Amino acid sequence: MLISLLDVRKALESEAVVPCFQPIVELHTGNLAGFEVLARWQHPSLGLILPENFIALAEENGLIGELTHQILSKSFLAASALPEPLSLAVNVSPIQLQYASLSRQFYQAAEDYGFPLRRLTVEVTESALANNLENARKIATELREMGCKLALDDFGTGYSSLTHLQALPFSQLKVDRSFVKSMTEKRESRKIVAAVVGLGHSLDMMTVAEGVETEEQAGILLWLGCELGQGWLYGRPLPAEHIPDMIAASPQTLSSPFSASGGSLTAPRLEATPTQRWAQLQAIYDGAPVGLCFLNKNLRYVSINQRLADLNGAPVAAHIGRTVHEMLPKLFPRVQPFIQRALQGEAIVNLEVLKPSPKHGEPDLTVHSSYQPAFDEAHEVIGVSVAILDITQRKQTEEALRATEEDLRHLMELTPQIPWTLDADGNLLDISSRWEQLTGMSCEQARNLGWLEALHPEEMAPTAKALKEALNTGQPIDIVHRVKTANGKWKWLRARGSPSYGPSGKIVRWYGGCEDIDEFKEMEEALHKGSAGTCSSNA
Ligand code: C2E
Ligand code: CA
Ligand code: CA
Repeated sequence: MLISLLDVRKALESEAVVPCFQPIVELHTGNLAGFEVLARWQHPSLGLILPENFIALAEENGLIGELTHQILSKSFLAASALPEPLSLAVNVSPIQLQYASLSRQFYQAAEDYGFPLRRLTVEVTESALANNLENARKIATELREMGCKLALDDFGTGYSSLTHLQALPFSQLKVDRSFVKSMTEKRESRKIVAAVVGLGHSLDMMTVAEGVETEEQAGILLWLGCELGQGWLYGRPLPAEHIPDMIAASPQTLSSPFSASGGSLTAPRLEATPTQRWAQLQAIYDGAPVGLCFLNKNLRYVSINQRLADLNGAPVAAHIGRTVHEMLPKLFPRVQPFIQRALQGEAIVNLEVLKPSPKHGEPDLTVHSSYQPAFDEAHEVIGVSVAILDITQRKQTEEALRATEEDLRHLMELTPQIPWTLDADGNLLDISSRWEQLTGMSCEQARNLGWLEALHPEEMAPTAKALKEALNTGQPIDIVHRVKTANGKWKWLRARGSPSYGPSGKIVRWYGGCEDIDEFKEMEEALHKGSAGTCSSNA
């Protein structure tokens, strides 16, 4: 398109250069944050002409100030449709940051149209700073003092210099759309975007990604911690009359696997600052009672916490950069297949492994190991996160408990008593196998109230009554009754037991035993008969 200086002059005279408004949204909510103002020339015959065809001419011929004036006035006028806290971002050409009149021009326009400058961001490119940094700093500081925010546009292209970044009071970094475009295919671009976002975070600047055209790009940007985005996914630059529609449009939330709401991934920066998050993660890492480390694809330690270093028997620093094989030559062959599977993307959890003790000559430790693949933003495995829980003590305690239970069982079998356990309602939970030997009724049959079946009919009701009373009062059980033995005879037993209380003070169990009092009963009967005989003889 051949456009002459005369054409540009005419365009400005006829006020044919107009602002278009492109939405800028919060990536994690899809909510509108404001608009970037982009100049368009409404040509009577050629239609809308893009800025690349006239900005340079305006700059070179001293018309850019007038162009900015027209764009600012028309934008501020249109901004009456813009509710708080929506903001506007306007572009200024590099050379404009050398004109002392710039801040005055902004101040005047804002005054004339009543637009608060605290809702205005001024976008400058780095080339604006290359010529006379001192001058640019002075003008930028004036803009800041008037309340405007400053954004560094097209970051990463041109003469990127960290000196520029800290020389001016920027509060936003705009990631150039060339990186966003190639980010999904090229790992290098992704790394650059990640680095720019990281740089923004560490300098306490918001990052805005330009040229977001797909959900996939938005998802990756969100995952990398980028706060704001603009691009065709959220809306093309449109004339002022479309502002109400763009405000009314519902938020564009993400459905990609990297979205903040779907899945367990959350944007690295929603509330906490990166420094806080890092400090928190470091504290969790260091203080965890679980051994933790991160291995890269070559199975070298990238990080390890103190707990795991202790379990491995070497200082933290000795691990970093070395392979698992170098650090744990004995254990490595046992775990290598599982780590390899994790590198293929499979999560391995709670694998029980015998791990050589860090102390020489001591028995192996028993550990639960988990190997979790770690993915990057493009879902490529970049390493394995390892968690090791030492369960040696638990295993030993379990073993000891089992042995104690076994011993108790033996002891119980040796006593002449028939030990039993009732629950709080009087249901039999357990009884010695001696019961079965005596009555022929299995422990299973005796469970709950089954044991009552073995009782002599005469003692069934009194036993049930006495038991109920003990259960109600908590008084010890002491009941004498007969049971039918395996050979069909009746045998006298004395059942005694006492309650056991839980932490709440309620009875939870009754423990007791039955003792064979047949001989005693016989003696008692004999005595009774004897005394009865004496009595009768007296009578
Ligand atoms: P910029 O500041 O980097 O503006 C972003 C450019 O990306 C705009 O091009 C916009 O239309 C385009 N864009 C936005 N979203 C997408 C997308 O999803 N995909 C693609 N492919 N492109 C997208 P535009 O409007 O042609 O503006 C070009 C440049 O002209 C701007 O680049 C800015 O440097 C300059 N410019 C625009 N308006 C003004 C102005 O009022 N004053 C000055 N000095 N420069 C301006
Ligand atoms: Ca811009
Ligand atoms: Ca840009």
